[in-house]
Formats: sequence, structure tokens, C-alpha cells
Amino acid sequence: MPRPIQAKIDLSALESNLVVARRATTSRIMSVIKADGYGHGLLRVAEALSTSDGFALLDIGDAVRLREAGFRQTILLLEGFFGVEDLAVIAEYNLSCVIHSAWQIALLDAFPDRGTLDIWLKVNSGMNRLGFAPRTVAQAMEQLRHHHAVRDITLMTHFANADDARGVDDALGLFNDLAASYHLKRSLANSAALLRYPKTHGDWVRPGIMLYGASPFPEIGSQQLGLRPVMTLSSRIIATQQLRAGDEIGYGSMYHVGRTMRIGIVACGYADGYPRLAPNGTPILVDGQRTVTLGRVSMDMLQVDLSALPQADVGSTVVIWGDGLPIEEVAQAAGTISYELMCALTARVGIVT
Ligand SMILES: *Cc1c(COP(=O)(O)O)cnc(C)c1O
Repeated sequence: MPRPIQAKIDLSALESNLVVARRATTSRIMSVIKADGYGHGLLRVAEALSTSDGFALLDIGDAVRLREAGFRQTILLLEGFFGVEDLAVIAEYNLSCVIHSAWQIALLDAFPDRGTLDIWLKVNSGMNRLGFAPRTVAQAMEQLRHHHAVRDITLMTHFANADDARGVDDALGLFNDLAASYHLKRSLANSAALLRYPKTHGDWVRPGIMLYGASPFPEIGSQQLGLRPVMTLSSRIIATQQLRAGDEIGYGSMYHVGRTMRIGIVACGYADGYPRLAPNGTPILVDGQRTVTLGRVSMDMLQVDLSALPQADVGSTVVIWGDGLPIEEVAQAAGTISYELMCALTARVGIVT
């Protein structure tokens, strides 16, 4: 019998979350499936989201796998190409690619093919990560508009604060001022902007996290947004301990027992992708009822409070996140975000659909 931890991927929830995105916009939807579909599995996710108008990811090999699996939509490489040798593959497989830096334009100049590349020119609207600074966009555009290798240009940017109180106004104003000079397609919105700011939708929206059923907003739950969790990480209790006042739990004795209590040991640890920094009190479900973790998370196990769950025992089902326990609640307790938890799932966790 295999170790009981598993990640169940609910493909119908992916489809249903895409419908939530469709209802929120009339723009074309580019489903973001980078990082192996946010940890859910690239091809499995792409198939469930096959009515998307496009897909966005980073790895050229992954993009080729999608094409070879028969996907005909736009496929956008979010960091573009990394070396001149990538360009022939991009042209051969008809991939679209972000151009975010002058060095990429220099590589394009050395690419002999004519009129084969669809590029997305990325504007840095304040995040200061990738993209051309506003004052350099005109020059980049001049180089690209009549470039021998370029077939089509879309203007894009990415928001730093679409999910928080700062919002998108500064970045949007800056982007729209630039874009007004050109008659090009536009793409700006991630999940947060798609859900909160219709004025950002442009021609293409780029939702990621919402498709996987997690809320992009710290103060709004996924259920409130009509999203269904796609990944449910579950395991079982493999031992119990009856403890008395004065006992301690786990490495470093991070939990001091103040009263008689019973705890369960769960087959899930940081080597499965559970955050080691999750503190005492992180929510978890045992037999469908909420309880909390106690003590430090170890490589292969963690501990849960069974004091209020007398029926729980060895073999009881534990939901670590997903169905009945939104992943963003666990993330918040652990001082991180749902994105990181999804992507951190390790290869030893079996995936079932
Ligand atoms: C990851 C990413 C997205 C999706 O963001 P979510 O917050 O997951 O919706 C959109 N655009 C770009 C450029 C990205 O890197």
C-alpha cells in the first residue's frame, strides 16, 4: 500500500473556473499554465482548459509539447527567448514571444527568417521587473515595427498591485498613454485585474491563479468569487499520541502541552511540499472537521490536534488544503501565498484525477 498522501486534481473545477473568467470579460482568454500548470500538471491542465483562446508559459520545451499534443491556440512565452537558437524553434512551432529587453531585439536582428514572429512587446509600468521603460518604448517600437523577422506586435504590461489597495491606476494610465500612439492589440490583466478592473481587459486577459480555484485577493475568499478548488491535497493519520500537561511536540519542542490532549501524526511534511514555516495553529481538516497543526513540520510528518475529535484515529482522512479548506487560508497562516504552495508540491506526491 502506498504512503497515503495524494493530490487530487478536479478537472471539472478547472473548466468551471474558466467559465467564471469568461463571464467576467469579453476579451480573449490566455490561460496561464507556467510552472507545470501551477503544479497541477501541464498537459492535464491544458486539456481541461482547451477552450482557452491561448496559453502562456515560460519553457520553450513545454510550449513544443503543447503543440505536439495538438493545441492550435496562441502559445505565449512569457520571458520570450533566451538565446538566438530558440528563434528557429519559436518560428517552427508558431509560438508567440514576449520581448522585454533590448538584448532580445539585438538577437532578432541576427535571425534570418522573414515575417514569422508574433511578438508581445512588454512595457515596464512600474513593477521594474521585465519590460521596456516608458521612455524607451518608442525606440523599441521603431526597431520592431518594420523588423524583417516580425509579423505582428501586441503591447503588454503586468501589474504590480492589481490585488491590493494601490490598484492599477498609475500603471494603467502610463500604459494607455503609450499605447494610444499605436494601433496594436493590448494585454494587461492577471486574475486580480480581470476580476476587479474591467477597464484593464484590452484584447487579451491572462488569468492564472483563479483558474486553479484560489483567490488573488488577500481579503476575499475563493468561494465568494465563485471559484472551485482544483487541487485537494490529502493524507491520513498514521499514529496518535495521548499527551499530558508538560509534554512537548516535535523537533525543537515548539509546542508545549498545557493539558491532557490527543494528537494525530499525519503523513505529510515539507518533503511533500507542505511549508515548514507553518506555525502552530495552521488550519487542517480531519474527517472533514477543522482542527490545527501543532509543533514543527518535519520532512515527512506533521502533527494535528485531535482533542475535539474523539472519533478520529489512525486511518482518518486529512485534508491539507483544497476541498473544504481553501488553500489561501493555509497559505496565509504560513506567511505565504497559494501560488507558492501549489508550485511547491513535490514529485513524490501521487496525482490522481
Ligand atoms: C503569472 C502571470 C500571470 C498570471 O497571474 P495570476 O496572478 O496567477 O493571475 C499573468 N501575466 C504574467 C506576465 C504572469 O507572469
